[in-house]
Amino acid sequence: MTRRRFYAPPAAFAADEKSATLSAEETRHARDVLRLQSGDEIFVFDGAGREFQCSVKTIRRDSIDLNVIAQVDPARPESTLDLTLAIALLKGEKFDLVIQKTTELGVKRIAPLDTERADVRLRDSDGAQKRLARWRRIALEAAKQAGRAYVPEIAAPVPFHSVAVTEAELSTNVTRLMFSERGGRSLAEVTNNFARHTSSVIAAVGPEGGWTDDEIELARAGGWEIVTLGGRILRAETAGIAVVALLQHRFGDLV
Ligand code: SAH
Repeated sequence: MTRRRFYAPPAAFAADEKSATLSAEETRHARDVLRLQSGDEIFVFDGAGREFQCSVKTIRRDSIDLNVIAQVDPARPESTLDLTLAIALLKGEKFDLVIQKTTELGVKRIAPLDTERADVRLRDSDGAQKRLARWRRIALEAAKQAGRAYVPEIAAPVPFHSVAVTEAELSTNVTRLMFSERGGRSLAEVTNNFARHTSSVIAAVGPEGGWTDDEIELARAGGWEIVTLGGRILRAETAGIAVVALLQHRFGDLV
């Protein structure tokens, strides 16, 4: 039988991990939609990669107390590839789609980028906080649906040049790929040089208007490989999803 899965962050578990509490939102779903009763079995994942078999203890208006029976394997395993998608901010639904689909495909982290030709600028920190909260909810729902016990991190938007430079300074064993429709080497050519066990990749995808020459130069100087998928020009959201699928196939668990 498919598991009835709920989310509770690590802080919702007692220190001894023998009990946990569901939030008001999860409680509504458990009580009003699934009509769970005391004693019913459910599974709870903590978003950090762990999953537990639990039984319903007490149902209240805004919370449900659970007994934790055992830690179990997550409904679906995590990919061995630690993949970050650094993608330019896109208009509303397009960015939502990228988050949902790449979470299903097993991305570990999404880093929204502010780029020179961005079609979206976040007006103020209020607007940014709202969108971030919405993206995190979408990632959580997609992870739940896909059977993941790990919910991808979604960072606050940062300028591309800070990612291009910091990542280059900080990490030598992370493979950095900048995807561009205007040239570069093919993915096959680039990844043939990598060991099969490459385990950490950052993939950058530009905005609808593409990367500027300056951004491409900055990345190249920072040690990024410029990669083209050849073929057609993809829309940014298509490119983001396709890139995650291709890299999970080449280095992860999409077989
Ligand atoms: N401004 C461009 C299209 C940009 S597409 C034009 O209209 O000509 C948006 C982003 O998707 C690009 O910055 C790149 O990261 C990615 N992308 C689209 N097609 C691609 C391809 N064939 N190869 C690699 N990346 C691609």
